[in-house]
Amino acid sequence: MSRELLVVQRARKSFQTGKTKPLEYRIHQLKNLLRFISERQRDIAEAVKQDLGKSENGTQLFETLGVEGEINLAIEKLSEWAAPRIIEKNLLTISDEVYVQPEPLGVVLIIGAWNYPWAITLQPLVGAIAAGNAAVIKPSEVSSQSAKVMEELLPLYLDNDLYPVVTGGVSETQELLKQRFDHIFYTGGSAVGKIVMAAASCHLTPVTLELGGKSPCYIDKNCDIRVACRRITWGKFVNCGQTCIAPDFILCEASVQSQVVEEIQKCIKEFYTDNPETFEDYGRIINQRHFKRLMALMEGSTVAVGGDSDESQCYIAPTVLKDVTGDSKVMKEEIFGPLLPIITVSGTDEAIQFINAREKPLVIYVFSHDNKLIKRMIAETSSGALLANDCLVHFTVSALPFGGVGNSGMGCYHGRHSFDQLSHLRSCLIKQLKMEGVNSMRYPPHTDKKLGWARFFMLKQVNVCRLRRMALLATLAGLAAFLLKAKEVKHPNSVPRGAKVLALVSAMYYFTRL
Ligand code: NAD
Repeated sequence: MSRELLVVQRARKSFQTGKTKPLEYRIHQLKNLLRFISERQRDIAEAVKQDLGKSENGTQLFETLGVEGEINLAIEKLSEWAAPRIIEKNLLTISDEVYVQPEPLGVVLIIGAWNYPWAITLQPLVGAIAAGNAAVIKPSEVSSQSAKVMEELLPLYLDNDLYPVVTGGVSETQELLKQRFDHIFYTGGSAVGKIVMAAASCHLTPVTLELGGKSPCYIDKNCDIRVACRRITWGKFVNCGQTCIAPDFILCEASVQSQVVEEIQKCIKEFYTDNPETFEDYGRIINQRHFKRLMALMEGSTVAVGGDSDESQCYIAPTVLKDVTGDSKVMKEEIFGPLLPIITVSGTDEAIQFINAREKPLVIYVFSHDNKLIKRMIAETSSGALLANDCLVHFTVSALPFGGVGNSGMGCYHGRHSFDQLSHLRSCLIKQLKMEGVNSMRYPPHTDKKLGWARFFMLKQVNVCRLRRMALLATLAGLAAFLLKAKEVKHPNSVPRGAKVLALVSAMYYFTRL
C-alpha cells in the first residue's frame, strides 16, 4: 500500500468521525495555524530566503500577512458562513422551511506552486479547515526548503491525521491524484492543470484550478504615466516577476513608449538601487531551468532597461523590452520572471482586439483617468479580474473572488469564497404533512383545471417577502384606522397620537421597503 494511499485513508477515517463538524474544533485548528505562522516566522522566512532569495520582511509582507488576515476573517465570520442561509420562497413553498445548509465536502487535496510557497498552500488550507474538511497538503517540490519546513513543522500545530503534509515531486503528486478526493484545489501552470483535471474526472471529483497566463497591462496615453509606471514597476518586479498576477506585458501607444521606459527605469533604480543583484529586496529566479527559460524568451527582443544576468546566482535584472510584437518569442508563453515587454498599439480599440485575440487572462490592468475607457475595457474583454490604476492589490480584498476564467482557471477563493468553494451548499426543504389539498393539482388525473392552477402557482412571479410586507402594512393601516375610529367616538375633532405614529410608520415602511 502506497504512503499516499495510507495518508488519504487516515484523513478520511478521521473526517468520518465527525470531528471537524463542530465550529469550535475548526476555530481551534485555525488558531493553531495562526500560532504556527507567528511562532515559526523565522523558519518560514529562512526557507523562502533559500528558495527565492527573498528578505525576511518581504516574506512577511507577501507570504504570511495575507494568510494571517484570512485566518482572522475566517475565525470572526465562521458562524455566519456556516449558518443555514434563508432563501426566497415561492408560492408553493410559502409555509415550508427552505434554506441552504453549507456542509463539509470530505477530504480535499491541496496542490501548491513554488512562487509563493506558503501563501499559495496555506490560503486554501484556511478555507478547507473553516469549511470542516480534512486536507492533504502537497507543497511544490520546486521550492524545496519551504516544502521541507512545512512537512517538519506544520504537524506540530495541526491535527496530523486530518491535515497531513505530503512532500515529493511529480510521481508522488500523481500517486496522490490516483486516490479519491472530494475536491482538488490546484495552483500551478495550465499544462499540469489539465493532468489534474483528467485525474479528478476518474472519481468525478470537483476541481479548483488556480492557473496563470499572460496578464496584459494597458496604459492610456492620457493618464499620469509617472504614477502608473511606479505601480507597474512594483507589481511586475516583486518576487522577480514570479507572480501569477504580475502584469505580463504593457500595451501603449508608440507616442508614450519612451516615456514609459524612462519612468520604469527611474522606479527600478529607486526601488532596487543601481545594483539590484546585491539589494536584499530583489530576489532570485527559482532555479536554473527557469533561468534558462527566461533568458531564451528574451532572444530577438530589444532590451531598453536591464538585461544583465548571472546564471550561477539565478539572477536576472529587472528588464524592460521595447518594440516587442505579438509574434516575439517573449509573447509565446507566460513570462513568470522579471522581463517586461512593451507592445505598441494605435489606441484602445487595438488594445482590446489584441487582448481578445488571446486566451482569457487571470487579470487585465488598465491605467487611465477616463472612467468610460475603464468601463469599456470591463464591458468588451473577459478575465479573472480587472484592476484599474494599480497592480496586484485586488488579491488582498477578501470579499473579491480570486480566480481565473477559461485558460486562467476555474473556481475561486479568498474569504467567504474559499469557504463556499470547499463546502457543499446543500438545499434543504422541510414540509409539514398538512395542507394536502394544495398538492392535488400535481396528482393524476391531470385535468385542465389542475393544470391552470399549476401554471398559476409555478409561473406567477410572486415575491413572497413582498407579500409579507404588504400583509404587515395592511395590519398597520387597519390598526391605525381602528385607533382613529375609537378616538373619534370620544373626541370627534382630534386625531390620536398613536394613529398618527402608526400612519407615519406605515408610510415609511411602504416607501422604504416596497
Ligand atoms: P510547480 O512546478 O510547482 O507545479 C505545481 C504543482 O504541480 C506542484 O505541486 C507539482 O508537484 C505538481 N506537478 C508538477 N508536474 C506535475 C505532473 N506532471 N503531474 C502531477 N503533478 C505535477 O508550479 P508551476 O506550474 O511552475 O507554477 C507556475 C504557474 O502557476 C504559473 O503559470 C503561475 O501563473 C501559476 N500560478 C497561479 C496562481 C494563481 O493563484 N492563479 C498562483 C501561483 C502560481
